[in-house]
Amino acid sequence: MSSTTGTTTVITNIATLVTNDPSLGDGSPLGLIRDAAVVIDGHRVAWTGESSKAPATDNRVDAGGRAVIPGFVDSHSHLVFAGDRTEEFNARMSGRAYSAGGIRTTVAATRAATDAQLEANLTRYLAEALRQGTTTFETKSGYGLTVEDEARALRIAAAHTDEVTYLGAHIVSPDYAEDPAAYVALVTGEMLDACAPYARWIDVFCEKGAFDGDQARAILTAGKAKGLHPRIHANQLTYGPGVQLAVELDAASADHCTHLTDDDVDALANSATVATLLPGAEFSTRAEWPDARRLLDAGVTVALSTDCNPGSSFTSSVPFCIALAVRDMGMTPDEALWSATAGGARALRRDDIGRLSPGAYADLALLDAPSHVHLAYRPGVPLVTEVWRRGLRVS
Ligand SMILES: [Zn+2]
Repeated sequence: MSSTTGTTTVITNIATLVTNDPSLGDGSPLGLIRDAAVVIDGHRVAWTGESSKAPATDNRVDAGGRAVIPGFVDSHSHLVFAGDRTEEFNARMSGRAYSAGGIRTTVAATRAATDAQLEANLTRYLAEALRQGTTTFETKSGYGLTVEDEARALRIAAAHTDEVTYLGAHIVSPDYAEDPAAYVALVTGEMLDACAPYARWIDVFCEKGAFDGDQARAILTAGKAKGLHPRIHANQLTYGPGVQLAVELDAASADHCTHLTDDDVDALANSATVATLLPGAEFSTRAEWPDARRLLDAGVTVALSTDCNPGSSFTSSVPFCIALAVRDMGMTPDEALWSATAGGARALRRDDIGRLSPGAYADLALLDAPSHVHLAYRPGVPLVTEVWRRGLRVS
């Protein structure tokens, strides 16, 4: 095969290949191809199809009958932080009341950390996620809550991913507990100016005890005016205005979506806003599961993500989230795999990741299993045995 970069590689002898391109293979949304091969030219996929029809290449890799899937697109995480919340989790799971300050605990530890400590922590969790098949991740600020601490969190994150989200509106800073309006003014003013150069997205935690609908609208609208695109933590703990606001502002994603009215579901179904479900949070807080089946049956685009953070969902494992979604949220194994790959790409408004068809980045994972169904069928088993990113083996 002629190359534009000088080197082509075929991964062949793939038992089941998920392309997420319905024009390929069995014609399902996953575009499944049996006994398949993928040809990589430089950073990108050049060809996918049956092994017997693969074009000649410079290099050949034998998958040995393993399954190949697109690398996971984890479109929601909070990885710039210091400290942990073991005591809080232990108390919650032991049925004891706890009065730890939740997010405030992490804010205090994060403010006290050096840049090097924050970056070392971020790098550690990224490596952990990569080993489990995550080739794209989004991450947020939100544990600094001062102009300087939010900006440095985003600067550190931007060195590791293009998908960086400004979440100065995670909670009202404890420094402004008596004057939330002044904190909103800071988030939409000086803090936004300092943070916008490092971020692609702006997010807000729209929830009782965090920011109400009017505050969230003001924050996201200010971000849009500075060139950031909105996404939103919506309807996690209670019913509320977050989902409707997401649709109104054409947010790329409304994240959590655990408590939805029929009007909320209809609004999502008639929009380009993805519903990103984060079952690690419900697992770690013993909360009610989001109803993925209801959303899918209504025609909503669903993404699955980890929400990896030290307080409410300290897992970097997308396979774990897939298993929860299949077991407890009414998703089929095919739907869960799609949502954790192509769905995540939609939630980031990307079409160059989350699929394995010509033109996409060659981001993929090999599973020690004959098909992707094993991710839910064999929960907790480390099935990801090899990870490629941008055409190179990285794990
Ligand atoms: Zn979150």
